[in-house]
Parts: sequence; C-alpha cells; structure tokens
Amino acid sequence: MILFKHRKDLSSYLQNSSITPSSIGFVPTMGALHNGHISLIQAARLENTLVVASIFVNPTQFTELIDFEKYPSTIEADILKLEKAGCDILFLPSIADIYPNGSSPSQQYDLGQLDSILEAEFRKGHFQGVCQIVHLLLEIIAPGKLYLGQKDFQQCLVIKKMISLVGIDTSVIICPTQREPDGLAMSSRNVRLSHSERQKAAYLFKTLSFIKENVQQKDLENLKQIAQNSLTDQGFKVDYVAISNAQTLETIQNWNGKSTLVALVAANINHVRLIDNLVLN
Ligand code: AMP
Repeated sequence: MILFKHRKDLSSYLQNSSITPSSIGFVPTMGALHNGHISLIQAARLENTLVVASIFVNPTQFTELIDFEKYPSTIEADILKLEKAGCDILFLPSIADIYPNGSSPSQQYDLGQLDSILEAEFRKGHFQGVCQIVHLLLEIIAPGKLYLGQKDFQQCLVIKKMISLVGIDTSVIICPTQREPDGLAMSSRNVRLSHSERQKAAYLFKTLSFIKENVQQKDLENLKQIAQNSLTDQGFKVDYVAISNAQTLETIQNWNGKSTLVALVAANINHVRLIDNLVLN
C-alpha cells in the first residue's frame, strides 16, 4: 500500500499512472477503522483495479468541537487493517493540506429537505461539511465507484444528491451495515462506551427489529411511540425514531404497503450519540 499525505502527490501519481478512473474504487473514512469500514474495502477490492481509501477527520462536518476533538484515532492499526484487506493507496492528508485557504465553504449544496430533517435537524451544517469534503476528495481521486455504508443511511442519499448536483461521473455503491454479534452496528464511536453502556447499546438494534416485526400494523405513529418510549425506559436520550420512505426519507403516516420503508434511530447514551437504521420491507 502506498501512503500519500499531500493531495498534489496523490493527484500526480494518479494522473501519471495508466489506470483509468472507471477502475478506481474509493472508500472515504475518518479512521479508527473496524470491520464495517473493512467490508467497504473488500467490496471495492472485488470490483476495481485500484482501491483508494482516505482517512481524514473532517472538522467542517462536526457540530460539536468536543466530538471532533474526542474522535478516536488509531492510525497504525488502521494502516495494518487496510494493507491486510488489499487496499492499494491510503490518502492521509492534514487539515492544512485539504483546506489551505481555511475551511469556510466555497459552495452551498442544495440538498432539499435532506438538509433539514433527521440527522440534519440535530447536526446543523453537518451535511454541507460532508458534501464539501466528499466533493473535494472525488475531484482529487476521480473514482469510477464510491463505496459507502448503509449505516449512515441519510448520508448515502445526501452524497448521491451532491454527486448529481455537481455532475461528477462516479457511481455510488451502498454496502450493508456490519454488526456486532448482539446486533449493535459497528461504529468508531463504540469504543467510547463503558462496559455497561456497550451492553445497553445493543437495544438500539432490538428496537429497530421490533419496528420491522410490527410494521404491518396500520398505526405507524403508535409503533414509533412505543419504540421511543422503550428506548427512553432503557436510559437513552432519544433524538428521533422515524419510519420513512427509503428513497426520500419523507415521514410515512399512511403506508400503502408497497413503497420501501426504513426505520431510523438516533439516541444518546450519556455522552455518546449512536445512529442506526433498518430497511423494513
Ligand atoms: P466514517 O469513518 O464513520 O466516516 O465511515 C466511513 C464509511 O464507513 C461510511 O461510508 C460509513 O457509512 C461506513 N461505515 C461505518 N460504519 C459501518 C458499518 N457498521 N457497516 C458498514 N459500513 C460502515
């Protein structure tokens, strides 16, 4: 695996190589890698000549400074995991390399309601920051395929929308959420949970599974309320429990039994905020 720390070096390497953009698969990450990230590398490995990963904790997508500062970093272990999974290139830039003129956004992305609901409601400006960094990385790397995890369901829709807005020729491949044996979605933030918080965290997936088992009942509002109450009873501070159209994330009140639904949840255990989702049908 080749490590690049400067975008100009990576750009010139890619421009001088004989590899066409359509055979580059790209996996953007913020590091502290786990098997969820590695599953994206493996998917990219199967379909591309060149697999590029990036590790960059992007300050512009954090709403809380403390969350940015406390973001875990395990760079040496990450490098070993990427090499083992067959990654060809790791891009590991500094903030100064990515934002040489400061990180103020040069562009606003018109994401429609995706930029005001669910995650966007609780993390103001988060998706503009995500679009800013992913757009920049796509310009540097120009991959044919971009690999994202379903774990961040709304982010997948946001990035697809950004790509269509800016007209970049990259296909988005969405890979399934990797889970711990008790169902907890793998996340870099899980390491911040204490032993008892970690045990409690599995309840998020249980709640999503409960919604899935009961979605055929007519009253989705009632179902959401039961789910939310049970999370609160378990000691979570719930940001939202939503049952939404999986294409648009619009809230579904009267389901026609046909459109694809997704249940999404965001909840805090003490200082750690967790999100998860499950496609229901
Ligand atoms: P992050 O490092 O959290 O920015 O995540 C980088 C990529 O890994 C994103 O596309 C995430 O959706 C994806 N990802 C994170 N956790 C998981 C997981 N448990 N399963 C699959 N993909 C994941």
